[in-house]
Amino acid sequence: MSAGGAWGLYVHIPFCPYRCDYCDFVAVTAGPRSRQWIPRYLSALVRELEGASWEGQAVTAFYGGGTPTVVPLAELHERLRHRLAPGAEVTAEANPGTVDADSLRAMRRAGINRLSLGLQAAQDHLLAQVHRLHTWDDFLAAYRAARDAGFDNVNVDLMYGLPRQSPGDWRETLAKVCALAPEHISAYGLQVEPGTLLYAQRPPLPDDDAQAEMYDTARSYLGDAGYAHYEISNWCRTGRECRHNLLYWRNERWLGLGVGAASQDESRRWTHAAGLAAYCAAVEAGKRPPIRDQEARDPASDILVLGLRLSEGVAEADVDLGRFGQAIDVHVGRGWLQWRQGRLRLTDAGVPVANQVWVDLL
Ligand code: SF4
Repeated sequence: MSAGGAWGLYVHIPFCPYRCDYCDFVAVTAGPRSRQWIPRYLSALVRELEGASWEGQAVTAFYGGGTPTVVPLAELHERLRHRLAPGAEVTAEANPGTVDADSLRAMRRAGINRLSLGLQAAQDHLLAQVHRLHTWDDFLAAYRAARDAGFDNVNVDLMYGLPRQSPGDWRETLAKVCALAPEHISAYGLQVEPGTLLYAQRPPLPDDDAQAEMYDTARSYLGDAGYAHYEISNWCRTGRECRHNLLYWRNERWLGLGVGAASQDESRRWTHAAGLAAYCAAVEAGKRPPIRDQEARDPASDILVLGLRLSEGVAEADVDLGRFGQAIDVHVGRGWLQWRQGRLRLTDAGVPVANQVWVDLL
């Protein structure tokens, strides 16, 4: 991490048109009652950025949620973009059914240059089971509209381990998405978090072995299709890594605006509280948003754990060998870590057990 170096801007839009059964993000369904918060919340975001004392311009921006495309995102970006460096990567997450040709063109004109579309699965019955209210055809329409609007950098978010998802379903999803040739694909295993509808309902899920097999399928299928596996859950065409997420994994600085947003500077990491009313009231009064938690940074462990998520690994000079050397040696012996060209990396065998490696190292 470099003091005073590059930083990224994260903007949290907590509104969603519906609640997915597995979701534990800071998100509220954008019904008539919560919709009335949108103009006030967007103004608070602008004001929060105006009051931030971060120097220089952000090299990336990321509108995440929630579903950022349920608000007038192009207008919001026009009010925030003066804090971005020329050539900044600007990503917006979007769900099918919340964008159309006009809104996508407006986003592109405003300077949003990367779109991350949430598909999850290509089978309508699997989407319906977790209450995602879009279909494969909705996704296809959104994807084509994005291309027509000029988005030449598109990510598709996928999920494996969904209720009743078979290995064949997963392979079909990968095939249908690869046929569209997006620049970037993210694939995450379903996590059943306490407090979600899925946790309460406990539908039949693929077991751990089946999930691991699906992950292996993604690695081989996407590799064969020409995607580089540059991070544990992310694949891309050459040069199309998500620059914003690379800031996280390379342990740089980022400023998060809005409810539930996390930030990190040279010395600490903090997360805003989730309440909309308290957030808006604090920012409107010229105060900092309420903080849910904060902690001092531990750069040596952050560099190791975050850096090992990347296929490039961590430079030997950045590894605290006095603190972690013994545990690293154990995992090199197991074949889960390796030293190559002066960098420490996960091996192919280590990637599926990365969580175990983090726990052992720390
Ligand atoms: S669209 Fe995303 S943020 Fe919204 S409910 Fe679904 S998973 Fe949660």
